[in-house]
Amino acid sequence: MIKGEISLSDNNKIEEVYPNLFKIKMPFENSPLGYINSYFINDGKKKILIDTGFNLSGSLDELKDSLGMIKIDISEITDILLTHYHIDHVGLLSNLKKAVNPKILFSKKEAELLDTMFSYSETYLKNTLEFYVKNGVDDGVIRLVKKINKMNFSSSFNGSYRLLTNPDISLADDDNISVGDYSFKVILTPGHSPGHICLYEPDFKFLIAGDHILPKTTPNVTLDEEDGNPLYDYFKSLDKIEGYDVKRVLPGHQNVFTDCHRRIQDLRDHHLERCNEILEIAWEKELNAYQIASLLHWNVNCSSWDQIDPFQKWMAIGETLAHLKFLASERYIDIIEKDGKILYLAKIQNIPYLRIGHQRV
Ligand SMILES: [Zn+2]
Repeated sequence: MIKGEISLSDNNKIEEVYPNLFKIKMPFENSPLGYINSYFINDGKKKILIDTGFNLSGSLDELKDSLGMIKIDISEITDILLTHYHIDHVGLLSNLKKAVNPKILFSKKEAELLDTMFSYSETYLKNTLEFYVKNGVDDGVIRLVKKINKMNFSSSFNGSYRLLTNPDISLADDDNISVGDYSFKVILTPGHSPGHICLYEPDFKFLIAGDHILPKTTPNVTLDEEDGNPLYDYFKSLDKIEGYDVKRVLPGHQNVFTDCHRRIQDLRDHHLERCNEILEIAWEKELNAYQIASLLHWNVNCSSWDQIDPFQKWMAIGETLAHLKFLASERYIDIIEKDGKILYLAKIQNIPYLRIGHQRV
């Protein structure tokens, strides 16, 4: 167990972490993350569910079961708030909407992004694939991305996404949400996803963190198109949360934990180490992103890059590209375009500490 983590019994599907605020473990099969956390707040009138979990065959029954333990029927849910659009957090939304008809609360920024993705799905896929090809990505990964994209936009899969493009209440940075004794401040924390939100409760001093800060796993920060600088955004969002007095973090996966500021520093250190690993590899060598990804150390059960399956390679490439984009924006690395391909060359071998937004001369 890491320092600051609170041990909650793994057998308990539902735990009251604050008065009338419950953490519900929702299934997340075949994932090292184990399960995804939904949160449920009951103020007598309003009954709000935060994140729904995946749409697996038994998910709805699991939720019914857990809420049944606190004598709540799912039909009583009045509001559903989503921290970000990833399928492990929103997958069950369309089924719940059919069964319950709650109000949907969702990040304005992320809703607009999803709407654009749906409206221009062909362009979105084309841009992503072009960006990958320019960065040397192999055919196996390209085929996988096409397949996943088709699935995401298929009617059987996208019901939840569609609902999010037009939420009942759009949330922006600094908005307030009152539920019973709690008055949450919405904090926009882009990085893990472009319009990710956290909720901060200033009296009780806890943070519902979604996937922005997890106690054990480093939240994935990925780049899949030319535009954007998600790692820069992520660092800025870590800085933002550091400005709050957070006594406990209620994360989207794993256990509730206390040491928020220390965890933020661990996450910065992790990414700094990753940046330095990349600079070392691209020092005095012009390489494409795929080559750089293949030379990095990945925490997977394979002896070589070639044995890594396309899904893990895709994750690795996205993460590498996010770091390269950040390093280029901070002028630690040069981007060289040659014959329609993108190559990277480090300008410095090592950065001793992070200075975000600092433009080197
Ligand atoms: Zn997640």
